Amino acid sequence: MGALSSEAWTVTARWVFPVDRPPLERGVVVVKAEKIVAVEPHGRLTPDLDLGDAAVLPGLVNAHTHLDLSGMRGLAPPTPDFTDWLKQVIAYRRLRTPEQVQNDIRTGLAECLRFGTTLLGDISGDGGSWNALADVSLRAVVFRELIGLTPERAGTAWPNLRLWLDERKAGPTRRAGVSPHSPYSVNSSLFRHAARAGCPVAVHLAESAAEMELLESRTGPLVPFLQELGVWHPQALAPSVNWVLWQTARASPLLYAHGNYLRPDAPLPRNATIVYCPRTHAAFSHPPHPFREFLARGVRIAVGTDSLASNPDLDVLAEIRFLHRLYPDVPGAVLLRMATLTGAEALGWADEAGSLTPGKSADFAVVPLPDRDDEPHRLLLDSDVPVCRVLFRGRWVFTS
Ligand SMILES: [Zn+2]
Repeated sequence: MGALSSEAWTVTARWVFPVDRPPLERGVVVVKAEKIVAVEPHGRLTPDLDLGDAAVLPGLVNAHTHLDLSGMRGLAPPTPDFTDWLKQVIAYRRLRTPEQVQNDIRTGLAECLRFGTTLLGDISGDGGSWNALADVSLRAVVFRELIGLTPERAGTAWPNLRLWLDERKAGPTRRAGVSPHSPYSVNSSLFRHAARAGCPVAVHLAESAAEMELLESRTGPLVPFLQELGVWHPQALAPSVNWVLWQTARASPLLYAHGNYLRPDAPLPRNATIVYCPRTHAAFSHPPHPFREFLARGVRIAVGTDSLASNPDLDVLAEIRFLHRLYPDVPGAVLLRMATLTGAEALGWADEAGSLTPGKSADFAVVPLPDRDDEPHRLLLDSDVPVCRVLFRGRWVFTS
């Protein structure tokens, strides 16, 4: 942990990526206390600290994860059988003691910090990550999960959730939200309640072919799945994916996790963001994600790792490096924005995070660059070298 100097200090590296403007070769960032006060091209200021052959990025934004599933790494490898995987996640959750859940949350958090994440959207089963996020070196929106398909379950789930929200006051690095889990697990009435709660809302939407079939025709593998759980109640299901979009439209911030099966012309609310989880998407063998069509329409696309139940790690940079290999036609600047500024916009924190902009919080992820000449985004993305240093609110909080 570095001391928080009240004096301004300056830092340079081979490439500085402000994200709200093009990269600056040997640019200089000026930090005072917790804030960025200037970002200058090379030559105007003498740097106090030279990070050498490295990139200085804004702190990364992981817009969708579940810290409380961090103990599941490798236990239930994703397959095309989505409901079978869901059963394994439910079985895992039922076996965990509260202490084990807290352990999982701490494990996941440590991993997020190490990979340069300074802003997180965490879906929390029982809200258990709220306390764990009180005094750590990142910002987070904690979306407490809302589950309940039958009228009885929905009738108790909402008042409990409302009470939880009312007791969680926003702080400088923590905000509370709600996650009506998904159209297959939530009574249709809960989407409207969540959207009117005056807090951030995140929904798993159009994630699997099974979910689409359930909503379209009330058939498919989720029917026996819900019957086995004793919660099959077809009248309680949302009529369609579009209906969920309309019901949730007034929420802000508003995040739809996955969107793997959304039609490219889906009538998305203007303030919504789709959170694409690239490696998890690939692990389930879904058809190609429509994110390029959405980007072309001007829809915000952020990235998330999803949980360690479906992803090998919580490394956001690895997600956009994966996309860079899969879609070399998508400009690196677009991918980097998805993992930084767009994620901050999605979570409602773009006034303080997501880019190296004077007035914003001094949050950096520093990444060593390969020793070759290339376009700067390619240097960053054609590489597997992880983040080596993290600055949060003007303090070094991780050094490898
Ligand atoms: Zn998820």
